[in-house]
Amino acid sequence: MNPVDALKNELKQIKDLKGAINLLYWDMETYMPKGGTEARARQVSMLEAMAHERFIGEGVSKPLGELVDLDSGKSLNGLDSNTERLSFEIWKDYHRAVALPKEFVEELSRTASLAHPVWVEAREKNDFSLFSPHLEKLIALKHKEISYLGSNSIPYDTLLDEYEPGVTTEDVEKLFSELKTDLVPMIKAIQDSGVDTKREILQQHYDANKQWEFSEVILKDMGYDFNCGRQDKAVHPFTIDFHPTDVRITTRINENNLMDCLTGSIHEGGHALYEQGLDTDWYGTPFCEAISYGIHESQSRLWENLVGLSKPFWEYYFPKLQTVFPENLSNVSLDEFYRSINTVKPGFIRVDADELTYNLHIMLRFEIEQMIINDNIEVAALPSLWNDKMEEYLGIRPETDTEGILQDVHWSHGSFGYFPTYALGNLYNIIIFNKVNEDIPDLNNNISNGKFSPLREWLKKNIHQVGRKQTAKEMIQSLSGENLTAKPFITYLRNKYSEIYPI
Ligand code: ZN
Repeated sequence: MNPVDALKNELKQIKDLKGAINLLYWDMETYMPKGGTEARARQVSMLEAMAHERFIGEGVSKPLGELVDLDSGKSLNGLDSNTERLSFEIWKDYHRAVALPKEFVEELSRTASLAHPVWVEAREKNDFSLFSPHLEKLIALKHKEISYLGSNSIPYDTLLDEYEPGVTTEDVEKLFSELKTDLVPMIKAIQDSGVDTKREILQQHYDANKQWEFSEVILKDMGYDFNCGRQDKAVHPFTIDFHPTDVRITTRINENNLMDCLTGSIHEGGHALYEQGLDTDWYGTPFCEAISYGIHESQSRLWENLVGLSKPFWEYYFPKLQTVFPENLSNVSLDEFYRSINTVKPGFIRVDADELTYNLHIMLRFEIEQMIINDNIEVAALPSLWNDKMEEYLGIRPETDTEGILQDVHWSHGSFGYFPTYALGNLYNIIIFNKVNEDIPDLNNNISNGKFSPLREWLKKNIHQVGRKQTAKEMIQSLSGENLTAKPFITYLRNKYSEIYPI
C-alpha cells in the first residue's frame, strides 16, 4: 500500500475511536447520571490514552516517515503539493502528540472528566471553593504539558497554538489593542446616549416548549440536517461530532429571556453546519477537519450575529414569532424587536453579551489566563481578580462567582488558550461575510425570504470543504487580500449600531 493510503486507513480508524470517545463526552454533558462520574472518567481517559498511543504508533509513524522527515516535518522527495500539505499537517499533530507521554494524556483526561461535574455543582451552589482544588490540578497539568511541548519563549503561546495554529500572544495583543481603541469609546457613547431599546420585550415569560420548537424550525431552515444530528439541552451549549453524519448540538432555555435559546441554537447550528459540511473523502485526516477554533467560531458567530441579529432575518421570522407568542409580541413592531435584540449593555455573562461588549469579556479572560500560565498566580486569588478585571473592562462587578469566574465551562475541561479564538472568530466572520456579499449580491433578499441555501452552499464550498488545506491566516489573506486587522469588524459595528445609537 502506498504511504498516503496507509495513513488514510490508519487515521480513519483512530478517528472512529475518537468519535466513540466523543459520544461518551456528549453523554456526560447531557444525560449521564451523576453517580456515573468516576467510572466514566476512567473509561474516557483509558480510551483517550489508547487513541493517543495508536496515533504515535508505527501505523502512523512508518508511512508518515516515508513522506516527511519525522524530526523536522520537511517533506521528502518530490511530493505533489496536496500530499506535501497533507503530510505536513499530519506531522504537526504527530509531532505535538509524540511529545506527550501516554500517562500524561490519561491523567489530563481523567482530571478534566472529574472536574466537570464539580464545576457544574460549584456554579449551581455559587461556591468557587468546591471547584478550586480541581482547577489547581488542571493548571498544574497544563504547566506540565507546556514543559513537554514548550519551545516558545512565552509559555501561553504553546497553549494558544493548539487552538489557533500560528497565532501568538503578540498577534492577539495587537488585535485586541486595535479593537479596544474603537470599542471603548463606542460603548461609552452608547451608555451615555440614554437610548431605550426596550430590552424588556425579551424579558417576559416565553413558554419553554414553544421556544424549543421555534429554534428547531430555524435550524431546519438554516440547513442543519436533523437526519445527521439532534438538539439537546446542556448547562453550557456546545456542538460535538462523532462523524460528519452525526453532529449534535445543545442549547439552553430561559423562560424569562427569549433570546438565550434562539441565539444558542443558531450559534451551535453554525458550528454544526461546518462539521456536517466537511469533505468526507478525507475523513480521519486534517483535510476533513476544521481549520482552527477561530475559523470554527467565525461560522457560529456569522450565523448568530451577522445573520441571526440582522434586519432581513427578522423580516422573515418576526411575523412567525408573533404568531407563536401573540401575548408577548402582537403589539411590538419589527423595528422595536430589532432594536431590542441589538441592545448594547454591559452584563456579567459572556454568552449573553451583545456584539460590542462581547469582546471585552474575551480580553479579560485572555489577561487572566496569561497570569495563570505565565505568572503562576494563586488559584485562591482568581475570583477577586476576575471581578476587578470585570470592573475595569465593563464597569460592573459581579456579586457572585456564578456570574463571575464560574460562568464558563472551558477551564473545567483544561482548555486554557481557547478564549482568544472567540474574538478572532468575530474578526474573521465579517471578512468572510463581506466576501459572501460580494459573491451573492442579493444575499439580504435571500435571507429576508428565509432562503439560506445560497449562503450555506457558499460557506460549504469556500470554508467547510477546505479542511486544513489552508491555515486561518492564508484563508483570510485569500478572501480579503490583506492580513487580519480589526478594521472590517469595527466598520461593521459602526454601520450597524449607528442606526440604533448616536455613535
Ligand atoms: Zn462557539
